[in-house]
Amino acid sequence: MAAETPSPTLIQPDLEFVRTLKRSGADTVKKCYQCATCTVTCKLSPDRQPFPRKEMIWAQWGLKDRLLTDPDVWLCEQCNDCSTQCPRGARPGDVLAAVRAQAVQRYAWPTWLGRLVAQPKYFAVLAAVPLLLGLLFSMPPGEKGDFDLLFLKHTGGRFAPFEDFLSHGVLYGVFIPLSVFIVAAVVTGVKRYWSAMSVETGARNANPLCASVLAAFWEVLTHQQLRKCESNKQRYLAHALIFYGFVGLLITTAMVVVGLYAFGWELPWNLDHPVRGFFKILGNVSGLALTAGCVLMVLQRLRGGDDVGKNTYFDWVFLLILGGVGLTGLLVQLTRIVTYGALPYIVYGVHLALVFFLLAYFPHSKFAHLIYHIAAKVHSKVYDRYDERAPSPATTAGAQ
Ligand code: SF4
Ligand code: SF4
Repeated sequence: MAAETPSPTLIQPDLEFVRTLKRSGADTVKKCYQCATCTVTCKLSPDRQPFPRKEMIWAQWGLKDRLLTDPDVWLCEQCNDCSTQCPRGARPGDVLAAVRAQAVQRYAWPTWLGRLVAQPKYFAVLAAVPLLLGLLFSMPPGEKGDFDLLFLKHTGGRFAPFEDFLSHGVLYGVFIPLSVFIVAAVVTGVKRYWSAMSVETGARNANPLCASVLAAFWEVLTHQQLRKCESNKQRYLAHALIFYGFVGLLITTAMVVVGLYAFGWELPWNLDHPVRGFFKILGNVSGLALTAGCVLMVLQRLRGGDDVGKNTYFDWVFLLILGGVGLTGLLVQLTRIVTYGALPYIVYGVHLALVFFLLAYFPHSKFAHLIYHIAAKVHSKVYDRYDERAPSPATTAGAQ
C-alpha cells in the first residue's frame, strides 16, 4: 500500500505582529536558530509539547493567534534561565514577556483601554484621572480644607483623623464603582482568554475545576514554580516580598472595613487592642515588604543582564506605581507621627491617587499577569497539560 502524502501546512505569518513584538521587547527573536537549549534549560517546561522553543518559532513566523492562545506563555515565570543559556542571545524569556503583554491587550476589557495602557504616549492621559482625584483628596471643600486649621488641630494635641479631612463617603463614591468595574473587566478578560485557550488547544475536560483552582492557587501562594528557577534567585526574593506584602495589605484593608462597620472601630488603630494592634502591625510589615520588594526589583532592572531581562514601559509603569503605593502608604503614617500641618494629608491624597491608578488599570497593565497566570495554571490542570498519557493538543502549525 502506498504511503499517504502528508497534507502541507499553510503558514500565514503576521509580519506586523512580529514588528509589534520586537517593539515590545522581543527585538532578539530573529536570532533564534531552534537549538532547543532553552527548552532543555527551563525547569517548568513539561515533556509533552515543551516550551519556549516552539513559541520562538511561532514568534518568528508571526503566528499571532497561536501565540496569544497558548497557555504555556503564561506558565512561564519570567525567570530568564533560558535567556542566560541561549547560545544565540535570542532571549526567549523576553520574547515570552512581549507575547504576554500583547495577550493582555487582546483579552482586556474594554479593549481600547488596554491599548491606552500599553503605550507610553497615553501615560499623561491615564495619569490625569488619578491626578485630579489626588487633588480632590488633598483639597477638601470648606473649612476642613484649611491647612492652618489642620495644623492647629495637630498642635492642639490631637491628630485630626483623615476622615475629618476626607470623608469615607467620598472614598466609597470613588472606589466602590471602581471595584465593580475591575470585577467586570477581570471576569470578561478571563472568560475571553479561557475560551480562546480551549478552542486553540482542542482541550478535553479531564479534572474537576474546583480541585484545579485550589491547586493553582496553592502553586501561586507558595511560589513553588518560581522557586525552581536558578539564574536569578534575587528575583524570587523580590517577587515573594511584593506578593506577600500585597496580600497582607489586602487582608489589612478588608479588616479595616470590617472593623469600621461591624465593630465601630474608628481609625487610626493603636497597638493597645489585640486585634486592632495585630492588623496595624500586619499592615506595616506588609507595606515594608511590598516597598522593599519593589526597590529590589528596580535595582535589579537597573543592573540589567540576561537574567533580568529587557526593561520595557509595560514593566516600569506597573513596578513604579506599585512601589509608590507601598512607599506612600508608609509615609502616611510616618509623616503623621513626625511632622506637623498638612503634609500627612497631602501624602494621603497622593497615596490614594496611586492606589486608584494601580487598581483602575489593573486588568490592562502588567498587574493583569496575576489573573492570566492563574487562569493558565487552572487550564493546564483541568485539561491535563502535564499528564503524559493525555493526547497532544491539536496544533495549527508544524512547530512543537
Ligand atoms: S531561543 Fe536560543 S536556546 Fe532557544 S531554540 Fe532559539 S537559539 Fe536555541
Ligand atoms: S523564562 Fe524561565 S520559566 Fe520562562 S521559559 Fe524561560 S526558563 Fe522557562
